[in-house]
Amino acid sequence: MQGARGYIQLLATGGTISIGPDGPLRAKNMIKMARRLPAEIPVRGEDFATIHSSSITIAQIESLSARVRTAMDDDHCLGVVITHGTDTMEETAAALESMVHPEKPVVLTGAMVPSKDRGADGPDNVADAIACVNEGSVGGLGVVVVLHQRIHAALEVTKGHTTCPDSFTSGDAGPVGWVTPSSVEIVRTPMRAALTSTKLDQTVALIRLVAGDTGRLIELALNDGYRGLVVECMGAGNVPAPVIEICRRASEAGVIVLTTSRVPAGPMELWPSAGTAGMIPAVLGKARLSGLAARMLLMTALGAEPDQRLSGKQLSDLFIGASPGKIGPMEQGGTTESLGE
Ligand code: ASP
Repeated sequence: MQGARGYIQLLATGGTISIGPDGPLRAKNMIKMARRLPAEIPVRGEDFATIHSSSITIAQIESLSARVRTAMDDDHCLGVVITHGTDTMEETAAALESMVHPEKPVVLTGAMVPSKDRGADGPDNVADAIACVNEGSVGGLGVVVVLHQRIHAALEVTKGHTTCPDSFTSGDAGPVGWVTPSSVEIVRTPMRAALTSTKLDQTVALIRLVAGDTGRLIELALNDGYRGLVVECMGAGNVPAPVIEICRRASEAGVIVLTTSRVPAGPMELWPSAGTAGMIPAVLGKARLSGLAARMLLMTALGAEPDQRLSGKQLSDLFIGASPGKIGPMEQGGTTESLGE
């Protein structure tokens, strides 16, 4: 049993899960409230932050990734559980996956119902997250998000409901696994991206195309010095003609332009002229990234040290040539073949 060999690190950052009956809950309270904690596993609690995740800064995401990296480097640490607000959980998860690319379990969890209220989902979610680390089988899947008994991969998950405990979804692909009171089941290998960087470049804009779009917002971002764009195009990959021309000029000027669809689920095939305009579909293997995940990936790619930074061509190869579970120009062990150790 792994518990005999080390400890699990819990990092508390705030969010709805930390709203307790008598004030904010700290890391030690999270551990206490989790039901079904296997008695033999030491779980160390650390109060990393006490914020609503809607207020998280890029600097805080960078320091969280540094903290997770330190935990990964500690031979005694079996894995990390991060309690986090649900509003931006998918963005922190995508950033940690792209920046740290962990092989040990890193599990984000939170709650849709405050821990002080009837129907609070936090205690079970924390217990499930700890079970995932302890059981070990999520190791090799990269960063995962565990809520409502489901295990979602960092680059696939989105928050799909504003209030329901069953809020998180992985779209058509479905979760990578689930947690029952007695087991952790993994059903498929998720897409991953092996970029790794300690910094996120903040000059990446996420822009949703709208009816009548003239590309004005994109132009403003470019004039403001943005080095990357994630464009949520329409339907299965359609882009209004004026926007294509602006994106063409942007990519010719060295700006990386990733595209995904503003429609949450389904495949995407970029309109041919958008492809020739240097717009790169944010599709890994057969899986399409959300705009939020694509932004974090591009921020990581552009945030890398100059000698590690990918060119537009390499990024394009990364997306177009990738297959789920085996992605990335750098051989960093970014595969998910070693499930369950
Ligand atoms: N406002 C909360 C947050 O920190 C929402 C939540 O945790 O569910 O994201």
